[in-house]
Amino acid sequence: MKAIQVKEFGGPEALELVDLPDPRPGPGQAVVRLRAIGVNPVDTYIRSGIYARSPALPYTPGSDGAGEVEEIGEGVSEIARGDRVFISGSLTGSYAELAVCAASDAHPLPAGATFRQGAALGTPYATAYRALFQRGKAMAGETVLIHGATGGVGLAALQFARAAGLTVFGTGGSANGRDIAAANGAHRVFNHRETEYLAQIQQATKERGVDLIIEMLANVNLGKDLTLLAPLGRVVVVGSRGKVEIDARDTMGRDADIRGIMLGNATPRERAGIYAAIIAGLENGALRPVIGSEVPLAEAPRAHKLVMESGATGKIVLVP
Ligand code: NAP
Repeated sequence: MKAIQVKEFGGPEALELVDLPDPRPGPGQAVVRLRAIGVNPVDTYIRSGIYARSPALPYTPGSDGAGEVEEIGEGVSEIARGDRVFISGSLTGSYAELAVCAASDAHPLPAGATFRQGAALGTPYATAYRALFQRGKAMAGETVLIHGATGGVGLAALQFARAAGLTVFGTGGSANGRDIAAANGAHRVFNHRETEYLAQIQQATKERGVDLIIEMLANVNLGKDLTLLAPLGRVVVVGSRGKVEIDARDTMGRDADIRGIMLGNATPRERAGIYAAIIAGLENGALRPVIGSEVPLAEAPRAHKLVMESGATGKIVLVP
């Protein structure tokens, strides 16, 4: 099979297309023939060697994708050969034509969703759900700000929040991205490159503040987020790429919380809830993953450059 391999940590050029033997499933595992593969920012952090947990070299990147079950291992009964699935983790890496995953990480892909949409689910939709509901405790009737609403996690969060009865604000850095956010659940959209946008958000809440902020770039925004919160408000930190200074007093007057989230910390029970909610949302039409760019697998280095650029317009997928 064709696969991407990283032999040395480094820049995007470290992603090489190679031929590898077709993988076989062990007990409790499945091999999935991938039709589309999700590219996540974390794939770039791992590739560059700066991530907290680095894989042994050489390795094939990627955890997300969608395709058909090619083969199942001993003891697997929940999925069968030929099933359409999306995966939320891979033992061999998903930047490949074939990937091995634990059978519990292969979830049925509803008929209405394309493989490209399926590749957008495993990390981004799961993270959005966990951030909003498991960590953020979002409630119908509350106001949520998706701070960075134009990428993989942000658009997922807009769709989940809108379907759950929240008033939804989103931000984007490009006009195209903001249009997409408006079409995907945001009641109001703001430009996080403009100096006045925080005041505009406050005005939109009639100076009460927002109940919940889902934050994609905390190192830039956390200090400002705390001043935007309503009483008992919560900021859920999804993304952060450096240090940030805050005024802790901004939490005190509001009884406000800052909550971190790491998708990998979800318990098996929480994970079951996450994927059940994603499948239900696809089935009832509340969730419609937006694909921003499709890149051939061989051009994975280009996809890694794209995912770190500003001006997101949805999910970046690789196509084998
Ligand atoms: P993505 O598709 O690349 O999207 C990045 C988002 O960040 C875009 O909406 C972008 O908006 C926005 N952004 C850029 N500058 C911003 C600013 N100044 N203020 C607010 N937002 C800004 O990435 P993703 O997959 O959605 O992931 C988002 C972040 O969450 C990444 O840092 C990722 O590593 C992290 N993440 C964490 C977990 C976890 O478990 N904690 C899981 C998944 C992802 P524009 O491009 O429109 O400017």
